[in-house]
Amino acid sequence: MKPYDLDYFGKDASALRDKRLFLFDMDGTLNQDERLFDGAKELLAAIRIMGGEYVFITNNSTHSVEDLIAKMTRLGVPSAPDNYFTATMATIYYLKEHYSGALVYCQGTKSFVGELAKAGIRTTEKVDESADIILVGYDGELTYPKLRNTCEMLSRFDKPFFATNPDLCCPASFGFVPDCGSICQMLTNSTGRKPTFLGKPDPAMVYGAHARFSRSTEETCVVGDRLYTDVAVGLNAGTAAIAVLTGEATAEMIETGDIIPTYTFQSVKEMWRVLDPDGTVRV
Ligand SMILES: [Mg+2]
Repeated sequence: MKPYDLDYFGKDASALRDKRLFLFDMDGTLNQDERLFDGAKELLAAIRIMGGEYVFITNNSTHSVEDLIAKMTRLGVPSAPDNYFTATMATIYYLKEHYSGALVYCQGTKSFVGELAKAGIRTTEKVDESADIILVGYDGELTYPKLRNTCEMLSRFDKPFFATNPDLCCPASFGFVPDCGSICQMLTNSTGRKPTFLGKPDPAMVYGAHARFSRSTEETCVVGDRLYTDVAVGLNAGTAAIAVLTGEATAEMIETGDIIPTYTFQSVKEMWRVLDPDGTVRV
C-alpha cells in the first residue's frame, strides 16, 4: 500500500490501479461550470498513461456532444465524441432497440427533439393519439402549454411514459434549477402517471461504454458527486462506484444513507494520487 491509498473513510483504494475504464460525471465531479477542479487534469492524464480511457457520462440532455467537447477543450481536457455518453444517447439507443419506427411524443428542448430526429426517430410535440410513447427530457424552454399537452397525452392515452433522467435539480451559477425529475413530479402530481427513467442510474450507459471500449465490469469504475444517480449507476451495473465530496454528496449522507459508494474521496485530486502515488503526472 502507498501513503495516498486510503479513501476519505480510511479504506484501502489501491485496487483502483487495476481499473482501465473510468466513467465520470461532469458538474460537481470534475468541474463547476467553467472551473475545473484541482487534480482533474492530472487524474485524466494518469488514466491514459495507465493505458486506460475515460468517458464522461452526463444526465444533462440540453447540450450536444459537440457543445461538451468544446467546453472540455476550453477547460484544457482533450476528448473526442467516443469520450461521451449522454442521457440523450442512452434514450436514442433504448428507443431504437425497443421502439424501432415508433412515433414519439416529446416534451423537451428544440436541441433535444432535433437530436432524436437526427438519429432517425419520428417525433411529435402535438397532442396526437397516434404517438406510440410519451417522452420527457430536461427542458430549459419549458412552457405551460407544453406541460398541458403532456398532461393531456398522459391522461387520455395509455401509452408508455419515459423520461431522460430522474435528477431533481441541475446546478446553476447561483445554486440550482429544476431538472427533469422535478418536471416529471409535476406531471405525476397532475396525472398519476410515473415515467421510466432512461439515464443514470439505469445501467444502460455503463453497458454502452463497456461495449464501446471492450472493457469488463471488473475493469470499470464510475465516479460522481450525486448518490442516487452517479453512485447508483455504478452499483446497478456491478462496477466500483466512487463518490467525491465536491458536489451534492456529503460524508454524512454516505454514513447515514443506504447508497454506499465503494470508495469516497474528498475530490478528484485525492483519487489522482491513488492512481499516481508518486505524483509524477504533470500537465
Ligand atoms: Mg454531478
